[in-house]
Amino acid sequence: MIEFAQNLSRLGDENAFAVLARAAELVAEGRDVINLGIGQPDFPTPPHIVDAAVKALRDGHHGYTPAVGIPPLREAVAADIHRRLGVEVNPDRIVVMPGGKPTMFFAILMFAEPGAEIICPDPGFPIYRSVIDYSEATAVPLPMNEDNDFAFRADDLLGRITPATRLIILNSPANPTGGVTPGVEIDKLVKGLERWPGVAILSDEIYGQMIYDGQEHKSLLTYEALRDRVILLDGWSKTYAMTGWRLGYGVWPAGLVDHVRRLAVNSHSCVNAPAQFAGIAALEGPQDCVTEMVSAFDERRAFVARRLNEVDGIRCVVPGGAFYAFPNVTGTGWDERTLASALLEEAGVATIAGTDFGGHGAGFIRLSCANSLDNIAAAIDRMESYLGKHEPRHTG
Ligand code: PLP
Repeated sequence: MIEFAQNLSRLGDENAFAVLARAAELVAEGRDVINLGIGQPDFPTPPHIVDAAVKALRDGHHGYTPAVGIPPLREAVAADIHRRLGVEVNPDRIVVMPGGKPTMFFAILMFAEPGAEIICPDPGFPIYRSVIDYSEATAVPLPMNEDNDFAFRADDLLGRITPATRLIILNSPANPTGGVTPGVEIDKLVKGLERWPGVAILSDEIYGQMIYDGQEHKSLLTYEALRDRVILLDGWSKTYAMTGWRLGYGVWPAGLVDHVRRLAVNSHSCVNAPAQFAGIAALEGPQDCVTEMVSAFDERRAFVARRLNEVDGIRCVVPGGAFYAFPNVTGTGWDERTLASALLEEAGVATIAGTDFGGHGAGFIRLSCANSLDNIAAAIDRMESYLGKHEPRHTG
């Protein structure tokens, strides 16, 4: 019998991928499933971006690149950050990654070890918790509450910091809730962090351009006081509908860049070259593809919240950003896990149980708005009709 490392059992998962696979199985059996499970834009990558990758291959860009990314891409990212956020960033601090996830994986590995505490949102993107547990640090969940529109409160967060805290993970606009933390709370947090100069922040801003109702995205990168301890996570997956390309980046404090470079060299070596050329085309090309996608998500999330609030037993905060809705389903009498599973297996609607994002997701399910308005409307009709015809069930 082979023996493998104990800590593998601590590594978590992202159930959205399992739901995606199960939905595909059901479709292959001839069932009709509307997928509101996975967080992947339903738009194709804009053609000028695809063309840039094809051209890069034809031009012979087949080889390894620098581990931190090709210089013109790092420069394009710096220019994009300047354009959007008004912040000057030296391209040397930008490290290109195969997707958004590796920045999070490496950032957590850099700070986590037994005895270290890491504060992370709950409900939150499941990989934060998974990697913290894997690395045997202690996860300190920061509850994201429905009564606060799923934004965090600075005082709540500051109250959880102890001398053992090494890293705080923030995500606004947020997955799975669509919550957006107002700028005043972030100002307050930054002020409070003056008392804790040894605490680093990983700010996952992958949904930073998906924000509605005239709100402004407040990036942690804009605070000069945090320059030496903020890691910004961003990427192309959501903004440019490029989930399968595997392209993202981190902006790191100068002192950490060489550590992340070594982590990259030890794992993926570099990001595939044509994807990096596509990334330049995305940032330097026309941005109306982004505006159009965001306005479609805006319309859908407003519709989803309005329509869900008409369903007996369901109430839903209007998401302020990202492309998810996180309705409270406790009034239906079902628990979230049984409901998500019944909706998939019996009603043909894929959703994700709130508890797949942490214990504070109990009583909620996540719906992704990455599907057409017609499909979303049909999915909510199916949910309503299913709930009307079935007695609530509970598991375990
Ligand atoms: N961060 C958040 C909050 C996400 O929701 C996701 C993807 O769903 C990621 C990071 C990872 O993005 P990528 O697919 O680029 O690795």
